[in-house]
Amino acid sequence: MSQKIPITVAHGDGIGPEIMEASLHIIQAAGADLDIETIEIGEKVYLRGNSAGIDPEAWESLRRTKVFYKAPITTPQGGGFKSLNVTARKRLGLYANIRPCVSYHPYVDTKHPKMNVVIVRENEEDLYAGIEYRLSADVMECLKLISRPGSEKIVRFAFEYAKQNGRKKVTCFTKDNIMKMTDGLFHGIFDEIGAEYPEIEQEHWIVDIGAAKLADTPEAFDVIVMPNLYGDILSDVAAQIAGSVGLAGSANVGTSASMFEAIHGSAPRRAGQNLANPSGLLLGGVMMLVHIGQWEAAERVHNAWLRTIEEGVHTYDIFEESVSKQKVGTKEFAQAVVARMGKKPEKLAAVSYAGAQAKRKDWAPTQRKTDIQMIGVDLYVGSKGITPQAMGDQVKQISHDGLTLKMIDNRGVIVYPGGMSETFLTDSYRCRFEAGGATVTHAQVAGIYQKMTDAGYDIVKTESLRTFDGKPGFTLAQGQ
Ligand code: NAD
Repeated sequence: MSQKIPITVAHGDGIGPEIMEASLHIIQAAGADLDIETIEIGEKVYLRGNSAGIDPEAWESLRRTKVFYKAPITTPQGGGFKSLNVTARKRLGLYANIRPCVSYHPYVDTKHPKMNVVIVRENEEDLYAGIEYRLSADVMECLKLISRPGSEKIVRFAFEYAKQNGRKKVTCFTKDNIMKMTDGLFHGIFDEIGAEYPEIEQEHWIVDIGAAKLADTPEAFDVIVMPNLYGDILSDVAAQIAGSVGLAGSANVGTSASMFEAIHGSAPRRAGQNLANPSGLLLGGVMMLVHIGQWEAAERVHNAWLRTIEEGVHTYDIFEESVSKQKVGTKEFAQAVVARMGKKPEKLAAVSYAGAQAKRKDWAPTQRKTDIQMIGVDLYVGSKGITPQAMGDQVKQISHDGLTLKMIDNRGVIVYPGGMSETFLTDSYRCRFEAGGATVTHAQVAGIYQKMTDAGYDIVKTESLRTFDGKPGFTLAQGQ
């Protein structure tokens, strides 16, 4: 007999309450032993004036149970409302987002009958750090942060997931031909950690062609690990081409807490009509049961659900005259699954979770001593309304204690020296100062900052140029 496990449940908005009720009905009928605490999140909380969409007492419940089963919520339109999902993922340290995307051919219409892909998406960093600045009247900036520990955690998670779930291959998608430092770090760590798993096949694709291949030939992939933004986009694509976004569940897993949900939203137009498909949330619940060690219940739910799908008992979103037998509502679908409890599918492959519980390999960041030297500074300045050549000729005269102008660029393209008249110019420039490769001090940087300000340049921000163990910690401008 398994032990009663406390979990926090949120019924959400739109179709949320109906699909949560249906999912809990099925999960409990399978014998899951849960001690449920219910919290309110989402639209009502936002509209009460709480811009985070979640009250302090709800956080207390989540920190107590550490397991969150969450129905979709509606984020009100208009500014000022923070995404509760992003907040929950980041505040609870849920660094891994796992989305299995499986086709159920011939029972659910799909162009890809053999698809069975798990997307493992990094969940905390990348462009989702949400650090943005306005540099000038015309230019906005969003910082893409990729860290060594963040990448190590997610890449190791992907390999461990593959190992524990009998998966044969892990693929990594990045754009490191362009973002050599950020995506380059992610790819490098994939190669480094991959070397510890020689039994698992591994490969890397540039994300654009990888995405095309995934949409065209998903059966070529098994587990795919990606930085946050690519994973966000491509996991929706993968779920949709497998059959329907309404069928995919998702787990958000961290070191001390986890959250399980459907990948779709609150579909407000379908709310309150007993129409919605509860399958995505239910399969999220199956992942939760495996995670908390109640694998027998997980297996019963999943197999009874497969049997229901296979017998053609379908909600409107996957109903097809040619393959479906019975069109049902949310409640009737749940009853149909419960009626098949203890049965296994006859045509589709049955699942087995025997003994499964997500075993997290203890993870510690790689410690390394790095020799760091500052060798220059980039000063971002507004436009003075003069040509790049005139600006360069002026700034070339400004030096401080060996620190002199190396180049000026505009949106990463060199405009001085040797600029091209065809290059489009915005009102934001970057002036790079170096001392011929020698180490520079903060006093030198402060000196050049002061002299540039005295010459009438409005400095918007600075970035120091450093070497790490002799290697540059910055990129060259395009054309430099
Ligand atoms: P959505 O996923 O809610 O719905 C898109 C369409 O997909 C629906 O109109 C419906 O036709 C179909 N659909 C989705 N889930 C279904 C299901 N279970 N059964 C049957 N059909 C289903 O996307 P949206 O309309 O862009 O967003 C609606 C709201 O959901 C927004 O407020 C958005 O912010 C929110 N949202 C929440 C989450 C979350 O809580 N995790 C995720 C995405 C969107």
